[in-house]
Amino acid sequence: MPHSDVRLGVVGTGYVGLTTGACFAHLGYRVVCGDIDQRKVDLLNDGLIPIVEDGLAEVVEAARESGMLEFVFGSQAAARDADIVFLCVPTPQGEDGSADLSYIEQAAREIAPILRPGAVVVNKSTVPVGSTIAVERVLGRPDVSVVSNPEFLREGTAVGDFLSPERVVIGAANPEAAQRVAALYSTIDTKIITTDPASAETIKYAANGFLAMKISFVNAVAAMCEHVGADVAAVVDGIGSDTRIGSRFLSPGPGWGGSCFPKDSRALVKIADDHGYDFSLMRGVISVNDEQRHRMVDKIARAVGRHPSDLSGVKVAALGLTFKAGTDDLRESPALRVVADLRTAGATVAGYDPTTVGELSPIQEATLADTVVCQNVDDAVDGADVVCIFTEWPEFTDIDLERLAVRVGAGTTVVDTRNLLEPVQVKAVGLRYDGVGRR
Ligand code: NAD
Repeated sequence: MPHSDVRLGVVGTGYVGLTTGACFAHLGYRVVCGDIDQRKVDLLNDGLIPIVEDGLAEVVEAARESGMLEFVFGSQAAARDADIVFLCVPTPQGEDGSADLSYIEQAAREIAPILRPGAVVVNKSTVPVGSTIAVERVLGRPDVSVVSNPEFLREGTAVGDFLSPERVVIGAANPEAAQRVAALYSTIDTKIITTDPASAETIKYAANGFLAMKISFVNAVAAMCEHVGADVAAVVDGIGSDTRIGSRFLSPGPGWGGSCFPKDSRALVKIADDHGYDFSLMRGVISVNDEQRHRMVDKIARAVGRHPSDLSGVKVAALGLTFKAGTDDLRESPALRVVADLRTAGATVAGYDPTTVGELSPIQEATLADTVVCQNVDDAVDGADVVCIFTEWPEFTDIDLERLAVRVGAGTTVVDTRNLLEPVQVKAVGLRYDGVGRR
């Protein structure tokens, strides 16, 4: 079947759904994306992109102009005429650490009565083992197959990751349905791994768990470096050169966060637990990550000669609020977790992030309700007792150190949680420096 004859529906137009819909339209499929957030749908129909994602605006615009991509309100309007429907709705953390499947189940309930006979429903959301069967049950449509096709894109490089993936994973009980989903990726040069649904669902959690483990590992090594007087940059160079280890995901920092690793690592522990396996390694990975946040608070307290539990009267400049550079996503941002701890200890915090300049989106407003958000670095650092860099935005790597020193005064400490700056250069302008695991 030529591409343009295959109609795709995408339910949920967030980071994953919008990228999925736009990229499939770019590949030549007819795509209708639906969302229950009317504001998002309106923005998209006005040619605006509700998220910060490099290159996405261009792909969306070209696909809309060619008539291959449409945005509609609701899941039914997206799924009604589709041969294949992708579920890209949230799977947030439930109260007991498990993934909350209510959005997936709700979306399945909504589309069940209007799906075309013989349609395929694809779980692209990250869902626990057994969810493919759970969606089948909710749909109650024996003529409709459900396939697991977890997404591995990274925010900040989502378009490139989607169009040039390192692998595509498809889990299906029905080989014909698996083949129909695999065919969607046929013009992409990549490895397609076809397996059963439980394995596909496990692959996604195992991948995120492993990456979180690498970061927790290097953060623990960085802590050890500080104790033994070693330099983490040299250590990472030394271990990362070993191809069995690899150098990626070995950058020390304030801890991992974002919309995926925190909830997925906890869900992995819970899934294992529910099936009678105590995933103690993963529990350790999570607890090292929690420690890392406290270590950042300790560094800030040390910089001003105070105890971490009493920072009353201390003003902290927080440079970077998103969970990493290249995205506007504030979900489970390590910066915000540290900021919350600082506030609890009595500090006042002035934050700045390149994605929070100008009018805030409703989500940013709600998430940052307790934070003073400044429009530029200068305003955030003015009068600060300590400057803390949380994310690796180029604006912070290239910060004008002389200007910074003039604004905060000589002797002020820069706590560089991403090891972006050269300590020698920071000290040369009269500032003090504390990185992570650096001598
Ligand atoms: P998101 O919150 O950015 O977007 C989800 C969208 O779904 C929202 O716009 C919401 O309004 C919409 N929605 C909810 N219920 C709906 C319904 N019934 N009908 C239509 N729309 C509905 O979430 P996201 O970051 O895109 O993540 C989606 C899933 O993909 C999650 O399971 C996540 O774990 C997984 N995932 C995310 C990433 C990432 O980097 N963000 C990467 C890989 C996998």
